[in-house]
Amino acid sequence: MLGLAMVSISVVVGSGSVLLMNKLDRVALSTSTPKPTCERLLENIHKTPSASKNIRVDKKYILDVYHVKGDQISGPQKKTVPVNLRELQNDLESQKLIWDYFVSIIPSEKRVPLTEYRIFTDGSGNKTGYNHISFTLNGEDVSETWALEIDLADYQDLKSVSDVLVHEFAHMLTLNVHQIDVRTSPTDCQFYADDSQCSSKDSYLNRFFIRFWKWNLYDEWKTITSQADKSAVERELTSFYQSHPQDFVREYAATAPREDIADSWTYFVMTPKPAGNTVAEEKILFFYEIPELVDLRSQIRSRICKYYNMPE
Ligand SMILES: [Zn+2]
Repeated sequence: MLGLAMVSISVVVGSGSVLLMNKLDRVALSTSTPKPTCERLLENIHKTPSASKNIRVDKKYILDVYHVKGDQISGPQKKTVPVNLRELQNDLESQKLIWDYFVSIIPSEKRVPLTEYRIFTDGSGNKTGYNHISFTLNGEDVSETWALEIDLADYQDLKSVSDVLVHEFAHMLTLNVHQIDVRTSPTDCQFYADDSQCSSKDSYLNRFFIRFWKWNLYDEWKTITSQADKSAVERELTSFYQSHPQDFVREYAATAPREDIADSWTYFVMTPKPAGNTVAEEKILFFYEIPELVDLRSQIRSRICKYYNMPE
């Protein structure tokens, strides 16, 4: 019976390495003028490249799993890992520091229901974070659970992980149960849909998609990403970015609309308001049109500055 049917949908979204500084950052560096302390701090944090620990692995490993309740984590449950990952696995101090930083900079009422915080690695410089999302339909009820994963091989200090946390939070903001139409399958979706999710009409992602992807980039991107050969997809996504460099805040943003909105959000939070001379800058300005997100930007920025005892 449909009313009692229980359906689970699982989604994984990642974030790429921020090892390479991109063009927008270089422009910002070369035009630096005296700025208020907090703004300068945020710009410096944003420009701090990830300094990976030179870890090599054959695949992705989960090292430690923490149970989350509100702001608190308990555990970890340690997983079986190769010997060369034991040091990362045992670095509980860094793991807890990252979690405390995350709950300090992201307001609790804006966070999704997180049940697990996991430490993983896929080696240095690949994915830096993931969100695992599960939606469950049970009659009229829709519930969601989330797990946040951070790659400890790409972690050097809190400054280097700030963009990753702000990026992962963007997924929580744009792919939660209020933004996604869990009852409609991607194939029946009238609005923006990826492989696993149908976005709601008024969702941030659908609005972003209609403005920046639907009429220009989407067909080209869809042709590339529909191929079965994953290495061809990767190669052609690089060319896709290189043929539209002004359209994206960085290369990883060109991998998918949901990553584009997450990366544009990260620039919106961490960098000064741009002039809007390029499509990439227009994507950052998109968020300035939404008062609740402008307010959230201020909250996150002042929380980061407060964490470092910097006045606004
Ligand atoms: Zn991502």
